[in-house]
Amino acid sequence: MLESDVIVIGGGPAGASCAWKLRQYGREVAVLDKETFPRAKPCAGWITPATCRNLDIQPGAYPFGILAIRRITVHAYGRCFALPTRQYSIRRSEFDSWLLERAGVPVHTHRARTIREEGRTFVIDDAFRCRFLVGAGGTACPVYATFFRDRRPRPRESLIVTMEEEFACPGADPVSRLWFFEEGLPGYAWYVPKSGGFVNVGLGGKHRGLVGSGKGIREHWDSFEKKLRRLSLVRDHEFSPRRHAYFIRQDTGPMQLGNIYITGDAAGLATIDMGEGIGPAVRSGILAAEAIISGKPYSPARMSRLSLWSFLFPIV
Ligand SMILES: Cc1cc2nc3c(=O)[nH]c(=O)nc-3n(C[C@H](O)[C@H](O)[C@H](O)COP(=O)(O)OP(=O)(O)OC[C@H]3O[C@@H](n4cnc5c(N)ncnc54)[C@H](O)[C@@H]3O)c2cc1C
Repeated sequence: MLESDVIVIGGGPAGASCAWKLRQYGREVAVLDKETFPRAKPCAGWITPATCRNLDIQPGAYPFGILAIRRITVHAYGRCFALPTRQYSIRRSEFDSWLLERAGVPVHTHRARTIREEGRTFVIDDAFRCRFLVGAGGTACPVYATFFRDRRPRPRESLIVTMEEEFACPGADPVSRLWFFEEGLPGYAWYVPKSGGFVNVGLGGKHRGLVGSGKGIREHWDSFEKKLRRLSLVRDHEFSPRRHAYFIRQDTGPMQLGNIYITGDAAGLATIDMGEGIGPAVRSGILAAEAIISGKPYSPARMSRLSLWSFLFPIV
């Protein structure tokens, strides 16, 4: 049995940030992830200056591709305007792998299935034992399913369903675009260029709204694909989008039960306006680590529910 003071299940932005911070304070940490990194993650990969600050990343010193987004073209209700902003786009496969490696802790490729309490410890699949357990396994996190499902329910009305694809698109238009509420989509669609000639395109909307509208996410995707071709934003590409679902924030219950903590998508922390989840994942990972170190309570009170503010008034 492998023993570690803290075990973090999930090595995405929440888990990697938590492990990174704990390691800085000299705590013994191990991360379990079902995937081998670098791994693919459906995500537009837009990050804010605040996220860079929380992670202590100087965009110029980040060793992989990072694109500064200074202007976004926004389409809404038949209107179109350019919004000055200050954001960044990264590729999740590179970003997540780098964050996890930088944390400097042992990472085990292992899909956690069963977790039980034994005395004052937690035992995972009879193979790992820890005193502190951090759930950072995203929407399907086993720590959430085992300990928090009843205590912090993630309501159906907070469920966001998405489709997206990232691909090489040489000569791509360098301007990011967002389309809000088009053709009844209860959400928005995006076109986000990346460094190195990649783009990420996708759309997401509230599950409840889609069910009510009678138009599924696939139909919205088909219209979106046509639009991208019509606008010549994408040519000569056969799409094969991926689906993923996650929850926007509703504080329905605790994120800590004794020595068990949940972070990021496991806790359902994405912002309620834009569905930004990387920033809240990082922030919650760091706050959970600080709570473990200090013994003080862990709560989402110091985390913003909104992203629009940082779009309109970015602090660099
Ligand atoms: C299509 C789409 C676009 C998005 N675009 C953006 C965006 O542009 N900007 C933004 O800020 N947010 C965006 N988000 C949200 C963002 O991707 C998530 O909120 C963020 O990834 C959450 O990070 P996390 O670390 O909590 O979870 P994840 O990144 O999902 O990481 C969880 C990790 O846990 C591992 N895991 C899962 N189950 C187990 C298990 N049983 N055992 C071991 N390991 C396990 C997984 O392999 C994974 O590596 C988007 C989401 C989607 C779906």
